[in-house]
Amino acid sequence: MQSLLHSCYGINENGHLTIGGLDTIDLARTYGTPAYVMDEDFIRGMCRMYKSAFADSFGAASAPVYAGKAFCCKEIYRIMAEEGMAADCVSPGELYTANAAGYPMQNAYFHGNNKTDADLRYAISLGVGHIVVDSEEELKALSIIAGEMGVTQKILLRITPGIDPHTHKKIITGNVDSKFGSAIVTGQAQKIVAEALNTPHIVLDGLHCHVGSQIFDFEPFADAADIMIAFLAKLYSEYCVSFPILNIGGGFGVRYTEDDPEIDYVANVRALGEKIDAQCKKSGIKKPAIMMEPGRSIVAASGITLYTVGSVKEIPGFRNYVSIDGGMPDNPRYALYQSRYTIVAAEKANLKPNYPCTIAGRCCESGDLIAEDAMIAPVNRGDILAVLVTGAYNYSMASNYNRLPKPPVIMVSAGKARVAVRRETYEDVAALDN
Ligand SMILES: *Cc1c(COP(=O)(O)O)cnc(C)c1O
Repeated sequence: MQSLLHSCYGINENGHLTIGGLDTIDLARTYGTPAYVMDEDFIRGMCRMYKSAFADSFGAASAPVYAGKAFCCKEIYRIMAEEGMAADCVSPGELYTANAAGYPMQNAYFHGNNKTDADLRYAISLGVGHIVVDSEEELKALSIIAGEMGVTQKILLRITPGIDPHTHKKIITGNVDSKFGSAIVTGQAQKIVAEALNTPHIVLDGLHCHVGSQIFDFEPFADAADIMIAFLAKLYSEYCVSFPILNIGGGFGVRYTEDDPEIDYVANVRALGEKIDAQCKKSGIKKPAIMMEPGRSIVAASGITLYTVGSVKEIPGFRNYVSIDGGMPDNPRYALYQSRYTIVAAEKANLKPNYPCTIAGRCCESGDLIAEDAMIAPVNRGDILAVLVTGAYNYSMASNYNRLPKPPVIMVSAGKARVAVRRETYEDVAALDN
């Protein structure tokens, strides 16, 4: 039997894989394949875990901000609104989706390294709480637009602390070479802060940084916070200013396979909170409200993708290929990053996975693979395969390559399933063609 990695997955008395207690074979029959299925109760549990851990370890004014680029549709913003979560939007399309879902836009943060004038105008018109300004050009443009629209816009400034989370002990300036933000070591960060303090129609509420993704312990965040707090202390001593918010970005890791470590988010937030308290005390600044922007860790484990097996090809002396009815259009992460997944023969989840195979998508593209080192129970044409931990950066990265319609998103809660995003039709795929 395979390890199922996360508490939202299980195996029922028929040996079938379950998600949120529902039989994946029944779900595949009802909704067809390919289909994304997500456990809403798991997502809500992650939000509550982050909210209470932040309140306990960072203080009452602190808050987790859900990074919608991990998984974005109207339903997730309804859930985030109900859970009282702030939202990080990285494009006007994400802002549109949040607003259309009735999400309270004063709780939204608008990111991006190249927001157009139209984007800035749109964000202000929706009443977005904070715009995270990335560059001096954006600062100037925003000031003019806010002035024209008769508003004072709250902002954060995106700062590059100079940390590469995967080599952070060795290369402390690794990430200065980035398209995002203004670097502290080059003096550009201080310059943009000084400018923002003197820019009309703008209120500088604090600083933002983001060190990376799939980070399994608090240390890169603590290192980033350390650098940001030292910078805040410098700003205080030179300009006598302090800011209410320090946002240290997203990036907590998620277990995709048994080889990934387990992560105790509450313990990591607690350890980070202690470091931040000590850093603030040492540099003599009043602790700001600490924000973080988890995306992946809120939604990834909640989701699976169900596929139907087409062919099983064994090439003597070479590999075995199991072809499925989806692939890189619904999950580009293997093609893009060689991301590893756990794959389960959903009807035989209680059997030992002893069949080595490559899981191939249906696109006319040799690189259209989901996994090259999968071990599954043996399958035949018509069997259902489940790829686990696809709740983040799958639906949100999906394309219509090869003119394949995007799968639906089925949400499961309290033993019931419903359609959160319907399956695309061929008409949808061709809807914009003249
Ligand atoms: C991508 C991103 C996040 C979310 O990162 P996860 O790894 O999904 O937690 C948060 N903030 C910013 C600015 C990002 O670019």
